[in-house]
Amino acid sequence: MTHTCRDCKQTFGSELELELHRDTCSEGQLICDSCGERFSERAATTDGWHYRCPDEECSGAGIGEDIHKVRDVRLEA
Ligand SMILES: [Zn+2]
Ligand SMILES: [Zn+2]
Repeated sequence: MTHTCRDCKQTFGSELELELHRDTCSEGQLICDSCGERFSERAATTDGWHYRCPDEECSGAGIGEDIHKVRDVRLEA
């Protein structure tokens, strides 16, 4: 059974490999508190300053507000 990263579609042979990859995946470095979605930085911002959840139905916005870097979330946990 293969495990697929839903952000970049890369596949891995084990769940552990996928977990390790998730920490460094360039396609899923941001997480939205409002909807729980993960997405890449370039999906959330065009100017590197104003961040917005790429989900049209979600009103999450603002880095450090609704949108956090996955790494920071892990450190807080
Ligand atoms: Zn990935
Ligand atoms: Zn959202």
